[in-house]
Amino acid sequence: MARKYFQGRVVSHDALCENVRHIVFEREDREPVEFKPGQFMMIHFVGREGVEINRSYSMADAHTSSPEFALCVKRVDPDGQGSQLIHGLKVGDSLKMSGPFGRFCLRDESPKDLVLVATGTGIAPFHCMLSELEAILSGGERRIWLLFGVRYDEELLYHDTWNALAARYDNFRYRPVVSRPREDGDYKGAVGYVSTFEPELRETIDPDDSVAYLCGVPEMVDDMRVRFKELGLGLRATRTEKYVSPPTKLPKKDT
Ligand SMILES: Cc1cc2nc3c(=O)[nH]c(=O)nc-3n(C[C@H](O)[C@H](O)[C@H](O)COP(=O)(O)OP(=O)(O)OC[C@H]3O[C@@H](n4cnc5c(N)ncnc54)[C@H](O)[C@@H]3O)c2cc1C
Repeated sequence: MARKYFQGRVVSHDALCENVRHIVFEREDREPVEFKPGQFMMIHFVGREGVEINRSYSMADAHTSSPEFALCVKRVDPDGQGSQLIHGLKVGDSLKMSGPFGRFCLRDESPKDLVLVATGTGIAPFHCMLSELEAILSGGERRIWLLFGVRYDEELLYHDTWNALAARYDNFRYRPVVSRPREDGDYKGAVGYVSTFEPELRETIDPDDSVAYLCGVPEMVDDMRVRFKELGLGLRATRTEKYVSPPTKLPKKDT
């Protein structure tokens, strides 16, 4: 089936920290975005090799029947083509896009423990799932864990939202962790990587009644997948989304 493109126009953008922006787009054709929380959009643009390339970005927010959706994008320095293109957009600018795509979505199942693990902007799909997460939490029977790893504490994206959720629901376990706390900063939380919380999970969850979602840098996803396997979670109970760029396909040269 032919890919359906649309123009996504910037409605607003907010800096979440020095190099991450929460950007609201709307479809220029005003068609509602048919989506499932956890899915991603693609942007299409002509890269520095002169051919059209694409980059994927998880939706960080979207609503039924609305043409608007938000992306949460980290600017990759010094030479990140897609992320720098997005960071350079002003309100009213637009981009060629397609989507949503992907299957990193909550399924119709009810494990006792849902363990969400993110690094950096890998938090975006979980932020998009907020209503679904609240619906689970308000049932009171099930627990949700959010293990969130970043380098510096200012990169704890949507931190107030997660803290507010933890304040409302005892069954929401928010576990932020920072790998490089600043010596002159006032961060007093956990230091290290998301794997820091493995012993707590080991003691608390039943691997036969748990499902894990891992999203972010490939190194974390690979590492945590092994750890969850050792913890006893089956392969199908561990779902992953790795944040990588596809290789650029250059046209074949005539010989
Ligand atoms: C399904 C999916 C969803 C994604 N969702 C998001 C999202 O919500 N938010 C988001 O910010 N990204 C997301 N990504 C990653 C995104 O698609 C790009 O890979 C990322 O923005 C880098 O693209 P770029 O064109 O800016 O840099 P590239 O041109 O791909 O890379 C330039 C250089 O930077 C290096 N590099 C690439 N990424 C990083 C990084 N994160 N940190 C340091 N160096 C890097 C590369 O190795 C290369 O040397 C997602 C990826 C996938 C597959």
